[in-house]
Amino acid sequence: SGNSEGKDPAGRIVVSDAVLKIDSFLNQQVDPDLMNEIGREFAARFASESITKVLTIESSGIAPALMTAMRLRVPMIFARKKKSITMQGDLYAAPVYSYTKQEVNEVTVAKKFLSVNDRVLIIDDILANGAAALGLAQIVEQAQAKVAGIGIVLEKSFQEGASKLKEAGYRVESLVKVASLQNQQIRFLEDVPV
Ligand code: 5GP
Repeated sequence: SGNSEGKDPAGRIVVSDAVLKIDSFLNQQVDPDLMNEIGREFAARFASESITKVLTIESSGIAPALMTAMRLRVPMIFARKKKSITMQGDLYAAPVYSYTKQEVNEVTVAKKFLSVNDRVLIIDDILANGAAALGLAQIVEQAQAKVAGIGIVLEKSFQEGASKLKEAGYRVESLVKVASLQNQQIRFLEDVPV
């Protein structure tokens, strides 16, 4: 914890006042031990929710979602951002505005992987404005399944995603909460005097 400074412009962790680069452990290189611990923590937090499936969005959600699913002993499903020719036929779909790519993707899941009795835990790497998580929740609801919770590795608490998801009635568990990225410093929510 504490503050982290990004001194080297090329290797910056804090890319701007709003954007973090976490490619050394999650977004490109992946730290397996850390993912294992993340999976253990999400599984513990949602242990009483009778989760039947873990749902995420490709690609950066897959590592934490897989480790969570392994702990919960349930399947992991990742929604696709681009349709593939092997994905014909019955799909659930939701438009999701991509925060990092600044484009709308039609996010899809084959209908056969979700059903009315499922209790789904949504997992994602970073929460900004909530578009990705809300799109996944829409897909779960199209299947008439239940969103049992949303697990986020890193929440940027200064953006509106967390409050939006909570207002929509979802239980949100974020492992790390970032209060601010101003002045090239990561301030965690716990560090902010209340
Ligand atoms: P949201 O849909 O909540 O606005 O944004 C969440 C999605 O955008 C996540 O899937 C995440 O991968 C990406 N994202 C949002 N903010 C950041 C950020 O600061 N850094 C990185 N690397 N990805 C982000």
